[in-house]
Amino acid sequence: MSALLHTPVDEIPQIRETLKKTFRSGKARPLEWRRQQLYQVARMARENEEAFMTAMGKDLGKPRMETWLGEIAGLIERTLKTAEALEEWAKPEHPEVADWQKPWRPTLYKTPKGVVLIIAPWNYPMILSLQPLIGAISAGCPAVVKPSEIAPAYAQLLAELMPKYLDPEAYRVVNGGVMETTKLLELQWDHIFYTGNGRVGRIIAAAAAKHLTPVTLELGGKSPVIIDGECDIKIAAKRLLYGKCTNAGQICVCPDYVLIPEQKQDELVAALKEHCASFFPEGPLNSESFGRIVNGQHYARLMDMLRRTKGTIVLGGKSDGKLAVEPTVIKDVGEGDSLLEEEIFGPLLPIVPVKDLNEAINYVNSKDHPLVIYAFTEKQEVKDRLIAETMSGNLVFNDTFQQLAVNEIPFGGIGESGYGYQIMKYSYDGFTHLRSSIDVPYDYEPHFALRYPPYSEEKRKTIEAGMKLDIPKPAANGKL
Ligand code: NAD
Repeated sequence: MSALLHTPVDEIPQIRETLKKTFRSGKARPLEWRRQQLYQVARMARENEEAFMTAMGKDLGKPRMETWLGEIAGLIERTLKTAEALEEWAKPEHPEVADWQKPWRPTLYKTPKGVVLIIAPWNYPMILSLQPLIGAISAGCPAVVKPSEIAPAYAQLLAELMPKYLDPEAYRVVNGGVMETTKLLELQWDHIFYTGNGRVGRIIAAAAAKHLTPVTLELGGKSPVIIDGECDIKIAAKRLLYGKCTNAGQICVCPDYVLIPEQKQDELVAALKEHCASFFPEGPLNSESFGRIVNGQHYARLMDMLRRTKGTIVLGGKSDGKLAVEPTVIKDVGEGDSLLEEEIFGPLLPIVPVKDLNEAINYVNSKDHPLVIYAFTEKQEVKDRLIAETMSGNLVFNDTFQQLAVNEIPFGGIGESGYGYQIMKYSYDGFTHLRSSIDVPYDYEPHFALRYPPYSEEKRKTIEAGMKLDIPKPAANGKL
């Protein structure tokens, strides 16, 4: 494996031209061809498991188990299931329509949007670059994949492997950083799928707007955890700590901070300490089961947050001076604290004590819409209130991270956490245009007699008689 080779900027327009030509030729369109390319993605992942695990170990110090589960196994499963479901998804749909429109055979054709651009981040470099790619392949869209330069070993490996498995006339890797991505963004694409932070998300959306290109933005943010004081705090703490420690907290759906009734704070801290000791008996800094921070810049950012907090560190707090940071719990964190400023994206867990559920809901609602709200509660009335009174990309009760294991539900943010959806059918839909169509028979002509000029009041009244619908009367008490 060599160092990351950047794609020469002047080759980028030519790459897009090749893909445009392929799209126009119709090569990427037959379902059987798409299926074969999908199988090739699965083969690439399976036959190079070791190389992928080594690359991501090098980039992120990611434990092999986490790489295999979170990046490779899930990707292979979804690729194969997508190939299997493709026939069904791609079928034209015939919506139920009014009887008089039935002869027109209204139809929705599932049309590939065209040539698409996928821009991926470093934290789950494989699944976040190839999951959108399987969406593009399944939809019939040639694609450029731009992996993150912050995970260079993976990016280089992908650039070496992809042409061996996938048709290079339809699927290409462009490697590089801001310069190469800026060049990509100057060009017209038929959809851009971006995963990363909101600052760059705005750059992507603004560049796309120049070409009226539709965009999916998979962003992050601060995902809160609301703990109802009457739930099983031990289980809640275990599931919460698991979500916080996976990939050393560098996941978009990482539980960012906790809101808990103040009288339950110490019970939660005690349970977190107990589970941390059982997860990492040799200590997290020596553990093969705990990842590292991706680079010095992110490490310094986390250390700075921790240095400035006004809360009390009650678990962890140490680092190896290089890239490993212990799972660290900070209690009595209040509004305005350094740990509540921006997405933590690391293994620091601030606990914000609150009076009650009302205060927790008000706090969450005073912030941007998060990617996820996690809540630990068994009470239906608490769940109902969270469903009705808060907003987020996902809403997960009684676990963390596991929503990403469900193939049949969409994943996507809202507001500051992004827009658009992915995973399986939802990825397919994102790259598919619903091309609606009608086909009006010539012998329908007598039914159209009234619509043609010259118009008359008599014609209008005849049409009105057939169209006028009663509007329900107001409620008896006059209230809505
Ligand atoms: P990153 O720094 O790797 O950037 C993502 C991509 O944007 C890279 O390919 C990079 O080359 C490109 N980029 C960077 N600067 C650019 C610029 N000025 N112009 C054009 N392109 C540019 O990754 P990151 O943003 O640090 O990723 C972490 C963020 O992503 C977190 O906020 C996390 O929550 C979010 N995230 C979201 C999801 C999701 O599915 N919703 C998944 C993973 C990460």
